[in-house]
Amino acid sequence: MVRRFQAGGGAGRLVIASHNAGKVREIDELLRPWGVTVLSAGALGLPEPEETGTSFVANAELKALAAARTAGLPAMADDSGLEVRALGGAPGIYSARWAGPDKDFGRAMREIEQRLAGTAERAARFVCALALAWPDGHVETFVGTVAGSLVFPPRGDRGFGYDPIFLPAGADRTFGEMAADEKHRISHRADAFRQLVAACFAEDGRGA
Ligand code: IMP
Repeated sequence: MVRRFQAGGGAGRLVIASHNAGKVREIDELLRPWGVTVLSAGALGLPEPEETGTSFVANAELKALAAARTAGLPAMADDSGLEVRALGGAPGIYSARWAGPDKDFGRAMREIEQRLAGTAERAARFVCALALAWPDGHVETFVGTVAGSLVFPPRGDRGFGYDPIFLPAGADRTFGEMAADEKHRISHRADAFRQLVAACFAEDGRGA
């Protein structure tokens, strides 16, 4: 049975298990209509666990559970990345790590282009696993995706990470060329959010 989040009445405090200010802001905005008070793991001084899982779901769950147990409050975490079909799903859970310690995504995108040199297959998708965990170890996890293809050279300077080479199916502009709200209507993260909100937040806006 899916567990619902108790929002409203001051009970609705939720930790975002991320030290990425952009992610925390985005999640805060998405949760505002549900009367949730968002606290960031960084502001609470929570440690960042190592991503030792072998899937997006495992990594999202270990981050959410670690934060929930340490803070004694429900916690949400996301783990996401790009899967390239001709590369057997790489970089996948290693999407951030392909950019190296300098977070050089220009380098990571060139690496993908080079590895695709021998094939015309350009199919790819973004995946986002979103986990909501409670201090007692219960966790609900939802996976969102957006399908598309890769284009080279990269196009656009908006968004982050691999956005400039990702052309969503049916679109004529890359995520790197889209305004934030346009991307967020169709993104893997928005897809996972819609599922989580439908399952774990009550429709009356105050929680069950
Ligand atoms: P995480 O913070 O460990 O989940 O790493 C996610 C990584 O996947 C990011 O650093 C990006 O490289 C990539 N990624 C995830 N979502 C997106 C997106 O919406 N656009 C571009 N890159 C993304």
